[in-house]
Amino acid sequence: MPVDFDTIVNLAKKRGFVFQSSEIYGGLRSAYDYGPLGTELLRNVKDQWWRSMVRMRDDVVGLDSAILQAPEVWEASGHLTSFSDPLVECRECNARHRLDKLKDTNKCPTCGNSDTFTEPKEFNLMFKTHMGPVESEDNVVYLRPETAQGIFINFENVRRTARMKLPFGIAQIGKSFRNEITPGQFVFRTREFEQMEMEYFVHPDHAAEAFDQWVETRHKWYIDLGMSPENIRLREHDTDELAHYADGTYDVEYLFPWGWDELEGIANRTDFDLKAHIERSGEDLTYFDQEADERFVPYVIEPAAGATRTTFAFLIDAYTEEEVKGETRSVLKLEPRLAPIKVAILPLSKKPDLVDVTRKVADMLRDRWQIEVDVTQSIGRRYRRQDEIGTPYCVTVDFDTLEDDQVTVRDRDTMAQDRIPIESLTAYLQERLPA
Ligand code: ATP
Repeated sequence: MPVDFDTIVNLAKKRGFVFQSSEIYGGLRSAYDYGPLGTELLRNVKDQWWRSMVRMRDDVVGLDSAILQAPEVWEASGHLTSFSDPLVECRECNARHRLDKLKDTNKCPTCGNSDTFTEPKEFNLMFKTHMGPVESEDNVVYLRPETAQGIFINFENVRRTARMKLPFGIAQIGKSFRNEITPGQFVFRTREFEQMEMEYFVHPDHAAEAFDQWVETRHKWYIDLGMSPENIRLREHDTDELAHYADGTYDVEYLFPWGWDELEGIANRTDFDLKAHIERSGEDLTYFDQEADERFVPYVIEPAAGATRTTFAFLIDAYTEEEVKGETRSVLKLEPRLAPIKVAILPLSKKPDLVDVTRKVADMLRDRWQIEVDVTQSIGRRYRRQDEIGTPYCVTVDFDTLEDDQVTVRDRDTMAQDRIPIESLTAYLQERLPA
């Protein structure tokens, strides 16, 4: 049963995962700032993606391309002419909607009137700005609406310098910008967001096989990181849904509080992008296979995920409420690799002796893990806070610690407690907190 939307949004705000951008000025709609815990969670999601897509593989390398690129890039890719959504405006209440996302395309969801929409207009989603001091049509540049094109335009640079042989991939994580007509559902759809994209270049004959492998690999990634298998599914695009360049697309979808919605698209983009850039730039972006003595334009398999959106899904999926001794316990059962704080160190009281040992234990652990020392409030309330932010382990320093050099380690999920000598603590935690 998916968690109630407001509960998770309130938790995110209350505990400092996500704040409304520019809150002290009334807030900028559809822009969000990630607080201390949100930053860690988002970073962990990106790190896990990078680890599985780049570090653990020898056929994928990384890239960090510029957000501002030559306008020709967007001309060649088709974004300037066709990266748009159908916009309708209600003549009654002036609300604007994205036609393809409306349940009833004849009824305004804002005022409830029917037959009040204007003719749909194609609205380009790219943010436009100017480079340099003069605001003229000659120096228009766009904020990238996806990270993928930065990869295509560097295909030859990367192939040559990293000495890559097909099949190989180029991965990138970074900000993208889309002037969405209807942003919403908290950080699910925003105008500034982060993507995690990888372009996997293959011989056209091997594209179908690589596509199937990537669909499976990506689906598994979410489950491996603790997402409930029943809340995640693969959905194949119908032919009328496919982008004009794609030969096949699967969406990885998550069961959000409002229903199934996209986390990631995995597409066979064929040779569309490289060919478009060859044509527009006049550069040779073909690949020569020496062994086969064959020159061709590679096909591309693209797993394109949203980092911010996926982080939100992990947060929703982890939220659990349990009855413990007649009270409700809220726990974020985040997979330890994603948890913002791995270990909380809590002295039983504020007595200087205990705080001293606490600091020593903290210093011993902080080199390996994101930790938090919390000395305020009752121990029960401190456990509750750590449960609610998903900390897998709490280490309690009590008066016996001063005598026996042992601490109590409490497991977030089972609430079981183990008494562990301080000298064995690192090894104990290392076994339970994978990289
Ligand atoms: P939609 O049809 O929902 O607008 P899309 O299919 O155009 O999205 P892609 O271009 O495939 O999305 O982008 C890849 C991923 O980037 C998406 O699966 C999503 O996780 C993320 N993403 C795209 N747009 C946004 C946005 N406005 N806010 C947050 N994440 C986004």
